[in-house]
Amino acid sequence: MLKQLGGRSVVSELAPNIKTYDVVVVGAGAAGVGVGVSLRHAGIENFLIVDSHGVGASFDRWPAETRFITPSFPSNSIGMLDLNSVAIGISPAYSLQVEHPTGAEYAAHLREIAKYFELPVRNGVNVINVTKYADVFLLDTPDETLYCKHLIWAAGEFQYPRRLGFEGADLCRHTATVSAYDELPGDDFVIIGGYESGVDAAFHLASYDKRARLLDAGCPWESGSSDPSVSLSVYSLERMREEWFESQIELLPNCEVCTVKQQGDSYVVCTCDERQLKTSAPPLLATGFEGSLPLVNNLFEQRADGYPVLNKHDESTITSGLFLCGPSVRHDQHVFCFIYKYRQRFAVVAKAIATSLGLPAEGLEMYRQWGMYLDDLSCCGKECVC
Ligand SMILES: Cc1cc2nc3c(=O)[nH]c(=O)nc-3n(C[C@H](O)[C@H](O)[C@H](O)COP(=O)(O)OP(=O)(O)OC[C@H]3O[C@@H](n4cnc5c(N)ncnc54)[C@H](O)[C@@H]3O)c2cc1C
Repeated sequence: MLKQLGGRSVVSELAPNIKTYDVVVVGAGAAGVGVGVSLRHAGIENFLIVDSHGVGASFDRWPAETRFITPSFPSNSIGMLDLNSVAIGISPAYSLQVEHPTGAEYAAHLREIAKYFELPVRNGVNVINVTKYADVFLLDTPDETLYCKHLIWAAGEFQYPRRLGFEGADLCRHTATVSAYDELPGDDFVIIGGYESGVDAAFHLASYDKRARLLDAGCPWESGSSDPSVSLSVYSLERMREEWFESQIELLPNCEVCTVKQQGDSYVVCTCDERQLKTSAPPLLATGFEGSLPLVNNLFEQRADGYPVLNKHDESTITSGLFLCGPSVRHDQHVFCFIYKYRQRFAVVAKAIATSLGLPAEGLEMYRQWGMYLDDLSCCGKECVC
């Protein structure tokens, strides 16, 4: 019915009492909360943040031992925002008194921010389908449909793990489903994927005196880049130098998995170069995340690497009014996968929406002096010289 009618005011014509938000943000993680604060600073009032679970739900699901790799430091007093801060005036180092927060600590921190800024968050709203008719987005949830003029997709990646398409992948366990490494039964593990999550899993298992083989199709432990989006973080490299890591963990580079089989109570991981690794515990997948974008991929053009094509406001090039916030933002070769990177685009998005609503958004100007307003990408991509 809606489709047939089309036209600018189709929703209000059909049902004049339907509440239409100026903006709905899907996801109340680091990106959703951070961009929510920017919407407030832009003077936007008629907005809603929805989350299928609650504020910081992904961080709450991290394995208990996992900590932030980017350090927090209360550097705000000289105008340098804490690396893990999602808003001006906020420092997780100050509020949590830790340098490398756990997921649970950071989730609690996000809840504090949402409370402090009185963000309009509605929990337990799972968006399962998004369509756009004329100038209105329809967000279907199991219980209701929400309507908005602008949509910010900030549903993240963590809750959508990537399961590689090899035979027997379903016999493996993704690290995103581990609640604590000390609860994993077994003494000898195979970890598939040697980047941050794989090193993190290996580090904690080794610290519990367990052995693991950490394998990767490439060799992520040796990269010449100084960009942590491309190479392993210093935190992980440091942890790999721990004595117990070196003695308990075997690194297997250039080792691509083609099959995992069950043999009685054991598992056999077969690699493409015909190695066979036997383990008594289900192999662990540290293979990254599929992400939430498949839910809205039809509303974005796709780049060759599968990420959405975005205009200079991080808006879809084929669906006006649809914005992306968070770690999946890409521009050219620039990867905005860390908080200190993608937070610099919150004001850009808030400004574009405010402009479309006819608001001056002067409150966003202060974002520039805090390094929170990256609208000139020409400064990105520089390597360190030493
Ligand atoms: C092990 C690990 C360590 C990391 N360490 C760091 C680090 O040190 N520093 C750093 O900057 N980054 C780090 N990251 C990345 C960081 O966690 C992400 O950048 C961050 O979680 C992304 O925030 P987000 O808001 O986009 O997504 P999320 O935090 O995943 O939030 C998305 C929210 O959307 C909700 N949601 C999902 N789907 C729907 C739906 N369909 N409808 C409604 N709600 C939905 C979820 O419940 C969730 O609350 C790490 C990630 C991992 C996995």
